[in-house]
Amino acid sequence: MDKSWINKPRLSQDYRLGVKNFLDFAFGKSNAPMVKCPCTRCSLAKSKTREDIEGDLICHGFLNSYTSWIVHGEDMCVTENARVPSDSAHVELDSTFNLLDDIFPDISANMNEEHEEGSSGQPMDTDRPSASSGNSKKGEGFDEIITKYDMPPPLAAECKSFKWKIEVIDTAGKIEGKMITSKEVWKIQNSKVIVHFDEVSGQPIGESGGLLGSWLGQLSNDVNLLPINYSDWRMVNPHIKTKVWEVIQSKFWFDDPPTRKVFVMSALGSRCKDVKLRLWKEYKRDSLSETLLNRPENVPENQWGHFVHMRFTEKWKKMQERNTESQKKNSMPHVCGRKSFSRKRNDITIKTGKRPCRAKFFIETRTKPNGSFVCEEAKTRAEKLTTLLGQKSHVTNNAIANLDDEYAQVFGPERPGRVRCVGRGPTPSKLVNHSPVTRQEIENSEMVIDLKSQVKELSDQARVWASSFAVAFANIPNPAFANVPSPPNPNQERSDDAVRD
Ligand SMILES: [Zn+2]
Repeated sequence: MDKSWINKPRLSQDYRLGVKNFLDFAFGKSNAPMVKCPCTRCSLAKSKTREDIEGDLICHGFLNSYTSWIVHGEDMCVTENARVPSDSAHVELDSTFNLLDDIFPDISANMNEEHEEGSSGQPMDTDRPSASSGNSKKGEGFDEIITKYDMPPPLAAECKSFKWKIEVIDTAGKIEGKMITSKEVWKIQNSKVIVHFDEVSGQPIGESGGLLGSWLGQLSNDVNLLPINYSDWRMVNPHIKTKVWEVIQSKFWFDDPPTRKVFVMSALGSRCKDVKLRLWKEYKRDSLSETLLNRPENVPENQWGHFVHMRFTEKWKKMQERNTESQKKNSMPHVCGRKSFSRKRNDITIKTGKRPCRAKFFIETRTKPNGSFVCEEAKTRAEKLTTLLGQKSHVTNNAIANLDDEYAQVFGPERPGRVRCVGRGPTPSKLVNHSPVTRQEIENSEMVIDLKSQVKELSDQARVWASSFAVAFANIPNPAFANVPSPPNPNQERSDDAVRD
């Protein structure tokens, strides 16, 4: 049987035909509804249905060390096709994602509360942008970044010519006021837009915050920089994030970059998610093959293939159904439009001269311009909040949220890792203690992400090796080392010593 297809591009005719032949073979030999999946992710450790294995083999690739299909009933004595030596560099770095999530559930939840639609999916494909665009070469200088990223990506929607009132700082440190559109930010050279942050919440505010948000929306359309073929922003390759952060910093100035990075990158992740939703809505067709052909002009073929295949799996469909269900339950939409909670809160602060607490903020953001509420549920909650606020003693407190504030009394306590009605960023401990996130905490959490990605690479490697060994051993009828005595048990030795003493 020809197995050369195993190393061919996964969207090629040969590969897909090969997958079909493999499935016919495996399910022809076995009467069971499930067999071991030979994708690089399952590494013959998991049994799956034909349909699932097909999806896995397209998404993750075929374990290239598995060339004698002994686990699936192929005769071991077949001499054709000597085993291809395992080339771990060839195997995709794919996922111990679920494993890591089990180990670090709290950390990942705290790092970024934005779960991608279907967050149990795969991390970034290693068909990295470098393959298609040469973008992420290491050592690209800052000047190159400035000249390369000097206009919005082609996929970005035509931006409105709204002029934001901001300040720019030049290389000499001179600050100057300006009126500028987000499109003009791409042209800026030798100076950067100063972004203002709210000290308590750590979120960008004012016109500079709005401009940053609008510009990030454009940047998120750059599929060469930020490929669309991942399903969880938290697992996007750290090299890509580092590069993106450099591009952002070439246009915007931050008072404390390591601290601001966390917020900005998380906001960008959410914009990237919007891009994917938009692409899917516009380009999806009834069948897999039609959708594959309907590729948007600026999206590279390998990205589109992966993106589409992922969305045509059963797993994905189930996830979508679950998401639709939970969206139905979110019955109290706010009226902020695209304005972030932090900017909205800042507007209210300026208007009333006082920072709104969560209860006031909830009421304000669920009231339509004509004074009515967005829905009955919101009205009932708002009335309860108003009553509680009326009973409150007039102690002034500048914190946005307290664990026992009126909002908590009406909506119940916070789940770990997030605070509702505040917006992206802080976790309860940060806000409630009223202490800004310290640089040390940021560095610690970045270190955790680095370590996570190292652990992932190592365990992926170990998995590939383990499966190559399993295959190699299975191919040897009587391994020469079968008779080698096992090493002495160290515990045994120690107890002997103890007796002798
Ligand atoms: Zn699999």
